[in-house]
Amino acid sequence: MVAPYQHEPFTDFSVPENKQAMEAALKRVEAEFGKEYPLIIGGERIYTEDRITSFNPANKEEVIGYVSKADQKLAEKAMQVADETFQWWRKSKPEMRADILFRAAAIVRRKKHDFSAHLVKEGGKPWKEADADTAEAIDFMEYYARQILTIKDGESVFNRPNVDNSRFHYIPLGVTLTLSPWNFLFAIMCGTTVAPMVTGNTVLLKPASLTPIIAYKMMEVLEEAGLPNGVINFIPGSGSEIGDYLVDHPRTRLISFTGSREVGTRIYERAAKVQPDQIWLKRVIAEMGGKDTIVVDEDADLELAADSIVNSAFGFSGQKCSACSRVVAHEAIYDTLLKRCVELTEERVNVQDPEDGSTFMGPVIDQGAYDKIMEYIKTGKEEGKLMTGGDGDASTGFFIKPTIFADLDPNATIMQEEIFGPVLGFTKAKSFDKALEIANNTDYGLTGAVITKNRLHIEQAREDFHVGNLYFNRGCTAAIVGYHPFGGFNMSGTDSKAGGPDYLLHHMQGKTTSEML
Ligand code: NAP
Repeated sequence: MVAPYQHEPFTDFSVPENKQAMEAALKRVEAEFGKEYPLIIGGERIYTEDRITSFNPANKEEVIGYVSKADQKLAEKAMQVADETFQWWRKSKPEMRADILFRAAAIVRRKKHDFSAHLVKEGGKPWKEADADTAEAIDFMEYYARQILTIKDGESVFNRPNVDNSRFHYIPLGVTLTLSPWNFLFAIMCGTTVAPMVTGNTVLLKPASLTPIIAYKMMEVLEEAGLPNGVINFIPGSGSEIGDYLVDHPRTRLISFTGSREVGTRIYERAAKVQPDQIWLKRVIAEMGGKDTIVVDEDADLELAADSIVNSAFGFSGQKCSACSRVVAHEAIYDTLLKRCVELTEERVNVQDPEDGSTFMGPVIDQGAYDKIMEYIKTGKEEGKLMTGGDGDASTGFFIKPTIFADLDPNATIMQEEIFGPVLGFTKAKSFDKALEIANNTDYGLTGAVITKNRLHIEQAREDFHVGNLYFNRGCTAAIVGYHPFGGFNMSGTDSKAGGPDYLLHHMQGKTTSEML
């Protein structure tokens, strides 16, 4: 009997042994810098001349490693392998697939700090954020392994006595193309790869080009756990080159994309076109951006509100789809709350190389992100009142100060567009009704939070605050697998609810069989 699911506990780095273990892991990761990593197609290691260089965003000089890069020819080879492998893998025992994940989760757990240390270097994550990313990857494996065991037998459907005997069960879809982002470089990459695998699909894994090495390391773990060759094929490469090619491919059956709205909508549109020799309608899971709001009511505990806002806005430099980028505060408490948020940001949010365990905020991911965020800060200075931050330094790594703008129009650019950086906007509402109206005034609908003591307002928000993940009296980030199924409405995506009880079903199709008696 499988033990009930429990999420992986976070590490307390104030405990000296934990701190030392993390420091030792960082040294081990550094010792591997500059290594070369191949593609893996059908178990074969393939090195290419054209390579992706993975940098440390906190220190541009530091090369984490070089990763071979698939072109269209290699993408086609991987597709053929995945398509052939599917012919037998689709009939593999769900229990065996679950066992691969149980073992893989145990392997990662045993080397947890090595994975987290890698995320500090490749993703620029502070220790706490890196530890949470690793824990979430473990959680996805543990949770989806259990989920497949609960759905594997399907359901008995109503049988008409002496007439027929009917069954309903789920079968896999086919070759899945997983396209993952760099921000949860381990957790989301892992969850969106193992979910199709454990449901009996084969996978082409194309990780974000900024963070491909962690994906190679996950492949090693899965192989060690017994994953047969060809089931998951590791093909880093350019999104526009092999991404488009594989999205358009007639043998692609399912696309699991997590990333920007711009790329997600493009994939959705392209995947809808039926190509020559294509015999199905492709299914697309597209989890995209957010413009997430915390609403603070007039009777709220303002210390709780400020703490929730600062952590949700500046954790991992605001580079979370769930990050709080807007505060809508009741006019009665607006000034006090704003002042406290500015104070807390200046007290708490230090910006430095996350190699140091005391770092609250590390760099943003690359020069492109740095430039884009600095451009938004410029716009913010025109649209609102700069309260703190407002500058950055890209000389060694891509560091931007936590930035707060006040007195913004709810329709201002920086209150509407996803910035994906440490930039927070404040606006004032005359009433709770008005605050909810503002909270709903973007194209997105991913996360949100309401800080209030008013039970009626909690119920009102539950009905009217239109986001996939709504939280009360806490921040709007840090969803936990199994407890807070995650996914958004509107332009935030297809609401597939990763880490929830329905998630695996998006990777399968239902089949009814019925025998006449
Ligand atoms: P991105 O630029 O859209 O990239 C995501 C993935 O898509 C990468 O692997 C990328 O490859 C690939 N890609 C790019 N162009 C493609 C194409 N034409 N065809 C197929 N694949 C293509 O997003 P990102 O910058 O990595 O991630 C940040 C975004 O993700 C933010 O908007 C954030 O809100 C969102 N996000 C959403 C969730 C959620 O659950 N809703 C979770 C995390 C992040 P390359 O790296 O090679 O370009």
